[in-house]
Amino acid sequence: MCGIVGYVGYREAFPILISGLHRLEYRGYDSAGVALVSDDGRLNVQKCRGKVADLENFTVSKDVSGHIGIAHTRWATHGEPNDVNAHPHYSESGNIALIHNGIIENYGVLKDALIENGYTFKSGTDTEVLVQLIEYVKTTNNCSLFEAVQSALKQVVGAYAIAVVEKGNCDEIIAARKSSPMVIGVGEGEYFLASDATPIVEYTDRVVYVNDGEIAVINRNKPLKIVNLDNIESRVDIKKLELSISQLEKGGYPHFMLKEIHEQPKTIVDCIRGRVAADGSNVVLSGVMANCERFLQAKRIVFVGCGTSWHAALIGEHLIEDLCRIPVEVEYASEFRYRNPVIGPDDVVIAVSQSGETADTLAAVELAKKNGAFIFGICNVVGSSIARATDSGAYIHVGPEIGVASTKAFTGQVTVMAMVALTLARAKGTIGEEHFREIANGLLHLPALIEQAVELDAQIRDFSKMFTYARNFIYLGRGYNYPAALEGALKLKEISYIHAEGYPAAEMKHGPIALIDSEMPVVAIATRDSIYEKTVSNIQEIKARGGRIIAIVEQGDTVVRNIADYCIEVPTAPECLMPLVVSVPLQLLAYYIAVNKGRDVDQPRNLAKSVTVE
Ligand code: GLU
Repeated sequence: MCGIVGYVGYREAFPILISGLHRLEYRGYDSAGVALVSDDGRLNVQKCRGKVADLENFTVSKDVSGHIGIAHTRWATHGEPNDVNAHPHYSESGNIALIHNGIIENYGVLKDALIENGYTFKSGTDTEVLVQLIEYVKTTNNCSLFEAVQSALKQVVGAYAIAVVEKGNCDEIIAARKSSPMVIGVGEGEYFLASDATPIVEYTDRVVYVNDGEIAVINRNKPLKIVNLDNIESRVDIKKLELSISQLEKGGYPHFMLKEIHEQPKTIVDCIRGRVAADGSNVVLSGVMANCERFLQAKRIVFVGCGTSWHAALIGEHLIEDLCRIPVEVEYASEFRYRNPVIGPDDVVIAVSQSGETADTLAAVELAKKNGAFIFGICNVVGSSIARATDSGAYIHVGPEIGVASTKAFTGQVTVMAMVALTLARAKGTIGEEHFREIANGLLHLPALIEQAVELDAQIRDFSKMFTYARNFIYLGRGYNYPAALEGALKLKEISYIHAEGYPAAEMKHGPIALIDSEMPVVAIATRDSIYEKTVSNIQEIKARGGRIIAIVEQGDTVVRNIADYCIEVPTAPECLMPLVVSVPLQLLAYYIAVNKGRDVDQPRNLAKSVTVE
């Protein structure tokens, strides 16, 4: 969601800023812009609605010279996506330009006060208030830009990652963050600034993660300086970035999403590497082992997450209750944080977020922490805010996920949850040796099974054509496969814009079966699990009412084959790992239907990859 890029150094800034914005396109946005300070001190803002490519076209004959600049992709929260509302925003005098990710919640009162002091506003954004406030503080106090930013931010309520440049200063960017991500790349005589490390990796592997409440003074002639709002200086902690450029490219695939679906056999290997013993005799998840007592003493475990992570957590609930006999609840982080939840030192909270920056999940973590709960994180992005805010955790290690619709992160999250459940179940003594080994070996075989599921690609591509014009879809599953049905429906909605609902198969007769007719494709997950026969009956009920059934079945299934209109056969895994296997054809189905419809698969409309505003 929204991208921030900055550069100050000895190179031309514009190409670096533009390529950085391209790297951040996956986060989702509606307009783009750039501010540069030329070597003779002129401050130039160029911005427009649309894609980064539109900004490039727009600036073809414009002055974009300079060795310092800031750039932005906006995901509108306040004010429609248009040229004027695009960032950067100028201050009243035109001397300061600012980009912002987040929401200034008290922008209304600040705006009224500034208007009273003669300030005028051009945009409908909350952001413009901040740049005006900075200028107001700077002129009233006759202070430096850094001091003005520091003082202005004390008056701000909300979330922000900002970068500010000033006319006449071609050496320095002032940046700050609170609840929105920000990372600084440290080069030789140059610095890079971005919302995540993807724009930085091609220039340097030395990065500093800015913490909440910190302001960075990024001056090309000086060492990096980081202070908080009270002017207390922090140690600059330079970390080595573990990311390669090839991970950020499509590698011959037409879309990142397809690449990421196909990568899953490998990402599962990376996820279980060093964690599951080669003979299936043991599972070692150090973040759980080191805090085992805390988990085992917990009266309950509460998962918090959003979107796909919430679906993964529903599978985690099933796994932990089933294998460890610990009560589990799954909460939408966005609801949890605002409903005064009963949470305390007897609880373990597991926060699930691919990016580790999801604003609502981060807020849920802070709330649970304040109430004394032990917090465990399941994230993908190393060093992300949630990963740093939790007491312990496990990375999913699936590499950068660029496609907005999550695929490999989902399977990585569920795989980690299976390992959490196995580790705890053994420690608690709630799992027999044979059952433990069956699941641990299932994890070891998972990459091969996922590979077979990925090989369904051509079959699903052909068969997807029949559903390109469907207006609605229903996805059904039961038990472990019910969250997989929810996730399958979400994939389709996200990238094809077809309305789809996931439902527990047996619930259909309590209402939604009224929707069934020959126009309604029903994707039914019917693997041979402990409630297979029940699911088959539910499918019969749909069939009897004229529904068109696309069934996901295990190889060799003949029962459902005789009922369903179309069958997709997947290999067999232990029951608790089946949602991982069935998810792959559901991802492919959504992908190909979206491609058939000509959708922008990697950047679907209105969506953002990491939702850094609430
Ligand atoms: N709230 C700001 C706006 O609507 C920033 C949105 C963003 O994070 O891109 O312009």
